Amino acid sequence: MSDLELRFIGTGNAFAPGGLCWNGFVVDERFLFEAPPQALQSLNRLGLDANALEAVVISHHHGDHFLGLPFLLLQWKYYGRRNPVTIVGPPGTRELASGIALKVYPGIFDIKYEINWVEANSGDRVAVAGLELEALAVKHDRRLSGSLGFNATLGGRKFAYTGDTAMCDAVRDMARHAEVLVSECASRSDVLDIHMNLVDDIPMVRAAMAPDAQLVLTHLTPEVTAEGLANTTIAEDLARYRF
Ligand SMILES: [Zn+2]
Repeated sequence: MSDLELRFIGTGNAFAPGGLCWNGFVVDERFLFEAPPQALQSLNRLGLDANALEAVVISHHHGDHFLGLPFLLLQWKYYGRRNPVTIVGPPGTRELASGIALKVYPGIFDIKYEINWVEANSGDRVAVAGLELEALAVKHDRRLSGSLGFNATLGGRKFAYTGDTAMCDAVRDMARHAEVLVSECASRSDVLDIHMNLVDDIPMVRAAMAPDAQLVLTHLTPEVTAEGLANTTIAEDLARYRF
């Protein structure tokens, strides 16, 4: 089995507390999870080629997860992308992304490459370039068109990403599935019905995982620490992890 490589383009929650970049990560240099506003900047800082991304996987449409897409589209148009790209997101992703991108960069879809838009509902399975995804509805902002987490398999390795969510059955499902679980942890102890916190929720997430599975926390404030949780990593901006 090959290693899973995660590189974080950001680890902060929506408020970018303490100057953290907004959350997102790249798996094996080919799959970008989330398109936060600084996605292209962070990819460039990491020396990752945005044209080499096979897919962008977006959990929901809050701006800190989504508003970097126009810059990726800009890069792809003007810096020679020819290979197709797949953009996965909840229902309405194509219309919303296209509307914003066309308004801020007119002509952005006069392109020489193909975009495969995949709008996923809970339970849908998506396969792209060796990555297999299962979308799971999570418990987040119900005013949005959807909020997803993902069970994923790549190269025989199982990982999962919660997206933004409060504790729910979908998170437990991902915790059981994953050798590596990337989980949101939006605060140390704030009790909200749309997010998890370190004190109340993350111990339950950890307990639902296999003891030797790896938990990686992101969508953070600087107050979040590993607190003695086994096999748990606090993701850092621009860091690389191999599992
Ligand atoms: Zn959100």
